[in-house]
Amino acid sequence: MTSLWLEEPAVPRAENRLDGPVDVAVVGGGVTGCAAALVLARAGLRVRLHEAREISSGASGRSGGFALRGGAMLYTVARRELGAKRAKQYWQLTERALDHLEELAGDALRRNGSLRVAVDEAERDELEREYAALREDGFAADLVDGPFLGGIRHPTDGSLRPGRCVRRLAALAAEAGADLREHSRVGSLEELEAENVVIATNGYTDGLVPRLGDVIVRVRGQVIATEPLSRRMFDCPHYARHGFDYWQQTDDDRLVLGGRRDTQADQEFTAEETITEPIQRELESFAAELIGAPPKITHRWAGIFGHTPDLMPLAGRVPGDDGVWVAAGYSGHGNVLGLACGELVAQAVLGRPAPELELFDPARLL
Ligand SMILES: Cc1cc2nc3c(=O)[nH]c(=O)nc-3n(C[C@H](O)[C@H](O)[C@H](O)COP(=O)(O)OP(=O)(O)OC[C@H]3O[C@@H](n4cnc5c(N)ncnc54)[C@H](O)[C@@H]3O)c2cc1C
Repeated sequence: MTSLWLEEPAVPRAENRLDGPVDVAVVGGGVTGCAAALVLARAGLRVRLHEAREISSGASGRSGGFALRGGAMLYTVARRELGAKRAKQYWQLTERALDHLEELAGDALRRNGSLRVAVDEAERDELEREYAALREDGFAADLVDGPFLGGIRHPTDGSLRPGRCVRRLAALAAEAGADLREHSRVGSLEELEAENVVIATNGYTDGLVPRLGDVIVRVRGQVIATEPLSRRMFDCPHYARHGFDYWQQTDDDRLVLGGRRDTQADQEFTAEETITEPIQRELESFAAELIGAPPKITHRWAGIFGHTPDLMPLAGRVPGDDGVWVAAGYSGHGNVLGLACGELVAQAVLGRPAPELELFDPARLL
């Protein structure tokens, strides 16, 4: 039940203790909360971050490790839903966030691209349309013929060791003076002595601000990792079937593979962070199909992420709650977006809201 990523040794970090009122309390110690704390602490604010368990113990330490540009929807869908200008602005924001992630994460990020492939003609057509739209707007992308029915190579994407990455962000935030409190579950906003509160609890957002819990639906994702394979088969993160299947090979040649939640859709809308037999069986047989023989599974895990009705995160001020901010709801696509939104909200708290923040205004759903 342990995520491969969380088995890595901890990244050493400074311990700070800030007692009494602070400028900002951040709730949640995943990529979002750590990114926000880092920006705020570097700006000289007194920041206290509360994490119920340990840094990166939520979805951030349990993901498939894909570092992708864009949002949870296809670029063509973003253009239709947001308009061409805003869709382009959205994708550009995430490309910049990827570059910034590379600076912060060190060897936790490899920019080896990603491959999104089609399993049938309809998906292939969709990807061809997405490729044309991306190229039209000047984004790097290559059309490929295989594996499966081919698809799009996104050359600026990458492969992440997410636990290592988020622990590094936390260490940088601590170095800048943030007080990072692990095993510190926040029961209600009233207990926080802070001028501003940033809610960064993504799929674990429930009782703190019930209105947020109503729009950020909790979804479970499950993953397996194999022992190192005898050969290199996949040079970058791969995903297919609209992201319901995803796999990559780590530096030490393990296959990390997740998804298949569409096969048990009803059961996977849950906050229970446990693996289940039917999905694990699905993942194992897909791994065997890819490798050509049943692999030895060494790790199995589940994580919870937050899904929103329009597949866009909520980042910004929570309407009607003075001094309360949120960055959450990445709909399974938060490794890069989490960094972007954590930073956007932090900049807004500092009184320097970036124009992109408007894309994610929580008021659209609340
Ligand atoms: C199985 C799986 C695979 C995924 N694969 C990918 C992928 O390949 N690429 C990608 O981009 N995205 C992926 N995602 C999504 C991505 O992991 C998340 O979007 C991202 O990690 C969200 O980060 P976060 O910091 O917002 O939330 P989290 O990392 O979930 O952090 C929230 C934290 O808040 C803490 N918390 C909750 N309530 C409280 C409280 N009351 N008080 C204090 N602390 C609290 C939790 O313990 C948790 O650590 C995947 C998700 C899952 C579950």
